[in-house]
Amino acid sequence: MSSNADIYHEIIVDYSRNPINYGKIEDHDVTFHDSNPLCGDSIDIDLKINDEKVTDIKFHGKGCAICMACSSVLTEITKGKSLDDVRKIEKNDVLSELGLEHLQAVRIKCALLSLKVLKSALYTYLGKHLENSQDMDKLKDEAANLY
Ligand SMILES: [Zn+2]
Repeated sequence: MSSNADIYHEIIVDYSRNPINYGKIEDHDVTFHDSNPLCGDSIDIDLKINDEKVTDIKFHGKGCAICMACSSVLTEITKGKSLDDVRKIEKNDVLSELGLEHLQAVRIKCALLSLKVLKSALYTYLGKHLENSQDMDKLKDEAANLY
């Protein structure tokens, strides 16, 4: 008999071996890099943005199974979404897909690194396109206080 935890574990291993949306977008509109030195996770996310929508997203780099799985899930969630909807993506949107809501604190950075990179990329992109600086501060706080 396999429990939910086993099923999620299999999904995570599978994603880490065959990550979704892995690679680079050469003519990206924005790219961002960050790392999690505690574990050695290090990823870049490239975004293609048209008409206020994420039309393509890819990530590359290296990371542990949780980092790779969460990056895969996040890129799947993000692709095709409007920038407003991308801003509303929360950590549990990613964690719940993989049964990681109760992940221990030391691994949460592995799981949320990609979301931090995505929010930072969006912040960088909007920084060049937004007039409203209050909006910008909020976005910056979101990226900084994710974990
Ligand atoms: Zn990790």
